[in-house]
Amino acid sequence: MTNIADFVWQHADARPGQPAVRTREVTWSYGELRDKAGAYAGALASAGIERGDRVLLIAPSVPEFLAAYYGAHALGAVVITMNTMAAPPEIAYVLQDSGARLVIAWHAAVPNATTAARDLGIDVWPLPDGAAPPEAGEPVEAPVDAGRDATAILLYTSGTTGRPKGVELTQANLIDTAQIFAAQLGVSADERFGTALPLFHVFGQCVCLNAVMAAGASMTLLSPFDPVAMVELVRDHQLNVLSGVPTMWIAMLHVPGDYGPVDVASLRLAASGGASLPVEVIRAFEERFGCTILEGYGLTESTGGSTYHALDIEQRPGTVGVPLPGTTVEVRSPEGTVLPAGEVGEVFMAGPTVMKGYWNNPEATAVDLPEGWLRTGDLGALDEGGYLRIVDRAKDLIIRGGYNVYPREVEEVLYTHPDVVEAAVVGVPHETLGEEVGAVLVTRAGADLDVEAMRDWLKGHLSAYKVPHLFRVVEALPKGATGKVLKRAIDWQRLEA
Ligand code: ATP
Repeated sequence: MTNIADFVWQHADARPGQPAVRTREVTWSYGELRDKAGAYAGALASAGIERGDRVLLIAPSVPEFLAAYYGAHALGAVVITMNTMAAPPEIAYVLQDSGARLVIAWHAAVPNATTAARDLGIDVWPLPDGAAPPEAGEPVEAPVDAGRDATAILLYTSGTTGRPKGVELTQANLIDTAQIFAAQLGVSADERFGTALPLFHVFGQCVCLNAVMAAGASMTLLSPFDPVAMVELVRDHQLNVLSGVPTMWIAMLHVPGDYGPVDVASLRLAASGGASLPVEVIRAFEERFGCTILEGYGLTESTGGSTYHALDIEQRPGTVGVPLPGTTVEVRSPEGTVLPAGEVGEVFMAGPTVMKGYWNNPEATAVDLPEGWLRTGDLGALDEGGYLRIVDRAKDLIIRGGYNVYPREVEEVLYTHPDVVEAAVVGVPHETLGEEVGAVLVTRAGADLDVEAMRDWLKGHLSAYKVPHLFRVVEALPKGATGKVLKRAIDWQRLEA
């Protein structure tokens, strides 16, 4: 197989009536999805799009996304996906950097896309309900042989430092990741998978959508995420597997009312990733809904997948499982020495999910992909059994008066406090200590935070230097497009004391 769109065509041939993608309103079978993607590919071909051309797709998690995405892939085009909230300068940057030839934009995104593309002389195709392309063309019968090493997608990272970089993932990255996750999650062709993750992000697109297509199962989309709607969707659509980020499980845990195991009786697995999943959340979710949450770990640069808690291995909460088949993980010291089990260092990895490099950016590729090993920027440790524990992002480490404080460790404890709904621990600049430990909390409705009592309670669980000195209570934590907590958007000085 050399084209990620082959999965759609294969299942459409074998079981054309099998549901491929669903929302509350519509269901498209594999046959319908193949026909829509084929029509889209035909239109793109008649507009002159060829193998290797870059096409930017800006769409939310709707079935139409799949028609344009697999349609462009069927021609062997390189698909770039972007958040529908993207502003014109962000879109213009991506268009220029990638040399894209066409933009396909969901109707709400058309104005921004047009503003960005007009000056560059690039056409914008609106993506309407139903996904009919704006030009007629001879439907494409089957995906082209794109070649396993051909670049399949470019995903631009948010770029905390410098300009965003286009992560270049190949057909092999996409196909292998899809097959690995279909197997790791045990998804069978008759199952119903559901997610509220955005499809423009690696997690929703490569780990979930493409894996569901690889399995020939159905994908139910919810957009935007809403915890009550999610529980009801599981119940009404009898979903078997859900995927999401920790903030989604936390929100589901706190839905008011009697929702419980009976409502989600069909659910056999909640697959979590994207950020650390507090052990307390695993326990509470299992208690409320009677369903296992298994955690994995990955980056855009590793097609979203690096390690996972497969169904057939012992569960070790607090770890992100073991390396995926074919993947090797090493923990290295700052000097580059490979560290033994138990020691904390930077996580490196090699394997089938690791990117080709950064598009047009050999300097950044040389830094982050030395000799084919992906450096993750995450601190972690392997245990004797080969399970990886992510300690924290290296850049989130707080150094308080010379002592290292890993925010995640403090957050894990905060989540066990009965009044805490969400927690983010950050470093706050301090004159003598360098940094002080600050905690931003969302508390349970009606709970008043008694800072002294909270500190005393924390001292019973953590060394004194790790205990946050400063606290702020907020309505909600800032979150990125996937729903992950965005620590860099926490501006301590602007939070009310
Ligand atoms: P940013 O741009 O802030 O780096 P992003 O969401 O745009 O984040 P991703 O590539 O999706 O970019 O994020 C990958 C990072 O997410 C990893 O490097 C790691 O820090 C974090 N991460 C992913 N899964 C887990 C997990 N299970 N536990 C802890 N951290 C995780």
